[in-house]
Amino acid sequence: MPLIDTHSHIYLPDFKEDIVGVLQNAENEGVEKILLPAIDNSTHEQMLELEKMAPEVCLAMMGLHPCSVKENFREELKIAREHLDKRKFVAIGETGLDFYWDKTFTAEQYIAFNEQIEWAKEFDIPVVIHSRNSIDECIDVIKEQQDGRLKGVFHCFSGNEEQAGKIIDLGFYMGIGGVVTFKNSGLDKVMKEIDMKHIVLETDAPYLAPVPYRGKRNEPAYLKYIVTKISEIKGISTEEVVHYTINNSIQLFDC
Ligand SMILES: [Zn+2]
Repeated sequence: MPLIDTHSHIYLPDFKEDIVGVLQNAENEGVEKILLPAIDNSTHEQMLELEKMAPEVCLAMMGLHPCSVKENFREELKIAREHLDKRKFVAIGETGLDFYWDKTFTAEQYIAFNEQIEWAKEFDIPVVIHSRNSIDECIDVIKEQQDGRLKGVFHCFSGNEEQAGKIIDLGFYMGIGGVVTFKNSGLDKVMKEIDMKHIVLETDAPYLAPVPYRGKRNEPAYLKYIVTKISEIKGISTEEVVHYTINNSIQLFDC
């Protein structure tokens, strides 16, 4: 089954000891592409090194994570922008808003998010949105910015049906990962109502491992548990889940 993990931080130190094995596991499970969302300048080099090590499989994004928006965010944006001016990246991200951990830099998060959306338009690549405790606010920003040129994904979607409808109306996709396998996540009920043509798959490794590995380190090979769960929820075959999500991923990321 050909799969694409559209969101995976496998360049982080969690994978330092066994990245070769992790890539092998992914290959064994049919994971053909792994998209690497940037976080900030403290990990850009590791990300780009991994991409160099497995250029057929790993594709880097470039951007600034909302949790990394601090006093020095202008400098971080400048660095990300310099990378973007040097070469092609598969997407802008991850960017967005995060009101879960810290609201100190809310205004700065909005500035960084909007600036990165402008980059996505300029380079004509998708924007990958992180929206923790901020999905309505992120939808509002995209609504404001959508002029027909913007495309992207609400990564780790865990909203309700109404929010899903708004995201679809904006022409955006929803990234579905391990949360869909969690008991009482409620995402299964929402998933039932969302057409498969709006869904892409992701792990968010090393975070959010699906059942039966919940709480452990996540890796791209575990995409198969998400595929199985979605096929159960939607009452379709795993092949159909793969077919839809791979087409959507290629459509969105041109990968
Ligand atoms: Zn992420």
